[in-house]
Amino acid sequence: MSQPLFNRLALIGVGLIGSSIARAARAQNLVRSITATARSPATRKRVAELGLADQVVETNAAAVEGADLVIVCIPVGACGDVAKEIAPHLAPGAIVSDVGSVKGMIIREMGPHLPANVHFVPAHPVAGTEFSGPDAGFAELFINRWCILTPPQGADPAVVEKLAAFWGAMGANVETMDADHHDLVLAITSHLPHLIAYTIVHTADELQSVTRSEVLKFSAGGFRDFTRIAASDPTMWRDVFLANKEAVLEMLGRFNEDVAALTKAIRRGDGDALFEHFTRTRAIRKGIVEIGQDVPDFGRPHPQLPQTKMPRPYAASED
Ligand code: NAP
Repeated sequence: MSQPLFNRLALIGVGLIGSSIARAARAQNLVRSITATARSPATRKRVAELGLADQVVETNAAAVEGADLVIVCIPVGACGDVAKEIAPHLAPGAIVSDVGSVKGMIIREMGPHLPANVHFVPAHPVAGTEFSGPDAGFAELFINRWCILTPPQGADPAVVEKLAAFWGAMGANVETMDADHHDLVLAITSHLPHLIAYTIVHTADELQSVTRSEVLKFSAGGFRDFTRIAASDPTMWRDVFLANKEAVLEMLGRFNEDVAALTKAIRRGDGDALFEHFTRTRAIRKGIVEIGQDVPDFGRPHPQLPQTKMPRPYAASED
């Protein structure tokens, strides 16, 4: 991009997502400067060592001073308090956004603290890995991934467009959606799969006294993928389930009904029911591949972006 879209980007929280934004925004020349902060001195030190920001500051208040784009990249449960803390220090006209995996709660908990003279446009990049921290990020994380914007009612369309341009320039496909709808969709596509992974790995672990060696030895199949997803950050996922309680419970109810139906088919030896079920799910997988949402494509060439690095290893825990 010839002209940066923003003058100063403030990043609050520099883990996997925050550091990927820093790297991608730099690589694509989207901002003139980056000011970053993180909760712990250890992370701030690491961010400085990695050179991810022009300035690393100690407080959230100092980070947002003079920034025209503020992105809060911390677990969703902490975003409300941070909004309250930064509110008096925000520059008039600034865009305030986040990257949280749940959006309804972000709007409810951040929105009321923010002054009327800033623009609040929450966002969720549906891209990630099971790794955390500033070392885990990479500039290509968002390429060909969705970024869902959930502007509250009355948001300025020009501002939404500018934030969409920012994400688009980092390689994301941007979509705008109502926050509650986002939470329902993500409950089935991301939150429930993570819950299943956490559950199955835990169930296997409970069997360890009898089968530990077998569980480890034969984990080359589907189970190994579950263990990778179940390695995702516990704080982040605790917050996601607490924040998206209603939608997850709704999807879990439906899931349990489906499990009950399959259980019945197995118990009755109803091969037709099992075959029909598996045939339908196979078609869904085919559809996902056809629309290009199959996973191992980080770093895949993007039509509008210069290719900066070799593709990353396959990793997918998209949230
Ligand atoms: P991460 O790598 O664990 O980094 C989290 C960052 O937040 C760190 O800088 C951490 O600071 C800071 N932090 C943690 N708890 C905090 C608190 N209570 N108050 C202030 N700062 C706090 O996490 P991440 O994967 O980047 O996730 C950040 C956000 O992105 C979450 O809201 C998550 O829902 C969303 N998201 C994640 C993914 C994914 O796959 N990981 C994908 C899409 C969206 P310290 O290091 O100093 O503790």
